[in-house]
Amino acid sequence: MGFVEDCGRAAAALEAQRLRAVARSGPVIHQPPMAGLAETLGLDRLIAEGGLGGERLDAFLSAYLEASTRLHHPGYMAHQVAVPHPQSSIAALVGAYTNNPMAIYEMGPAAATVEYAVLNWMLGKTGWTPSPVPGSLPERGGGRAGGGVLTHGGSLANLTALQAARARVAPKSWEEGTPANLVLVAPKACHYSIARAAAMMGLGQKAVSHAPSDAEGRLDPEKLGTLLARLRNEGHVPLAVVANACSTALGLYDPIRDVAAVCNELGIWLHVDGAHGASALVSPRHRGLLDGVELADSMVWDAHKMLRTPCLSAAVLVRDARDLDRAFREDASYLFHDKDQPGFDFIHRTVECTKAALGLKVFFALAAEGESGMAAYIDRQFDLAKSAAAFLRAQPDVEVAVEPQSNIVCFRLAGSDALQIELRRRLVEDGRYYISTAEALGKRWLRLALMNPATELSDIEGLVHELVSCRDAIHALR
Ligand SMILES: *Cc1c(COP(=O)(O)O)cnc(C)c1O
Repeated sequence: MGFVEDCGRAAAALEAQRLRAVARSGPVIHQPPMAGLAETLGLDRLIAEGGLGGERLDAFLSAYLEASTRLHHPGYMAHQVAVPHPQSSIAALVGAYTNNPMAIYEMGPAAATVEYAVLNWMLGKTGWTPSPVPGSLPERGGGRAGGGVLTHGGSLANLTALQAARARVAPKSWEEGTPANLVLVAPKACHYSIARAAAMMGLGQKAVSHAPSDAEGRLDPEKLGTLLARLRNEGHVPLAVVANACSTALGLYDPIRDVAAVCNELGIWLHVDGAHGASALVSPRHRGLLDGVELADSMVWDAHKMLRTPCLSAAVLVRDARDLDRAFREDASYLFHDKDQPGFDFIHRTVECTKAALGLKVFFALAAEGESGMAAYIDRQFDLAKSAAAFLRAQPDVEVAVEPQSNIVCFRLAGSDALQIELRRRLVEDGRYYISTAEALGKRWLRLALMNPATELSDIEGLVHELVSCRDAIHALR
């Protein structure tokens, strides 16, 4: 057993598996029952005896990878989880080996500096002023600086951003609790983590008012003003308006500039949920989808979705850093004492106390591809979605939900909602293609999230061929 040797074994096994997957050899998904799997993996024996290294490690990894879902396989089109850049997986190893919980600077100066730089890069892409590096001279002429923090996932990031909104809208909440008249305005198509955040913040899910939307579920800015005025007349205080960039089910972008105009006029916090779609900001061709985002107050941006970064790394960004600094006010003097410190403590801005070096993974992905490489990846996936939709529309008995704006495509074969669910079940059981389903616009759709840079239009053709066979088999049974 030796660390370097075992890393070599692990890397060889992982890369061989990835290359097989990229070559479409073997299934993308294969779900052995949990009942026998613990035994196949030899878990009890290894826990009792130890010694996981050398050939035992080889054997364990072989069984482990056999029962792992292969995101690198071009048939992986199911969920909004990155197909990580292999180089960025190295960052996860570095992070785990050094184990620097960098929320306080002294526990990870390099990790904190990398996170600070990644956040500033994101702030710049959003059109906000990057934060001056502590100890450096503040930039002249720059307005109020933005700020941010990386958290363990977009759901936690949404909660954190809304917490910052609460600190501004109802600053006494931290001491006295959340006022009962706060409401949150969000389109029906928003991610469920928004309702969860409302419930966790003590507003209750009922405090989420659905923003008016158009026929495709995009927030309608014209009717938004009327709703906000009505809520205020009824004695409610809007905590924030949430806009999707893009929505989870259909991948559509709300018209941010127009929504921001309404919010700014009424002095209401605008939060942009860009967990999936904010990465379009990296692409000169696609950043217009978020036109006006610089007028928002906060945004979340998951790197582990469209920035080829392994789970998890989600940014909370605010236009004015002071809003995030006020989000969690609590006395933890052993950590927060006024010390003459050389760096920055992120701990004031997070739910987490111990926090992983999340910036390193994003940085490795960016530094492997470079900004233009990342933009090319995003353009490719967004273009593939458009080609896929055009191909699907040309098929008999196929309905496409909406023209894609991102790398998400929803479609269905003629028939009931139950048929779509049965089609997916059979597809996943077969294992050559892996897709999801989603409910939107009152129907159940088959849904593609085209995350994989190795997925080609021919894979989607193959998928449709397979779906049609499944459907014919179902009909033959009747
Ligand atoms: C994925 C997603 C989330 C949740 O992010 P996690 O990182 O999975 O917690 C929130 N909002 C939107 C719009 C998303 O697409």
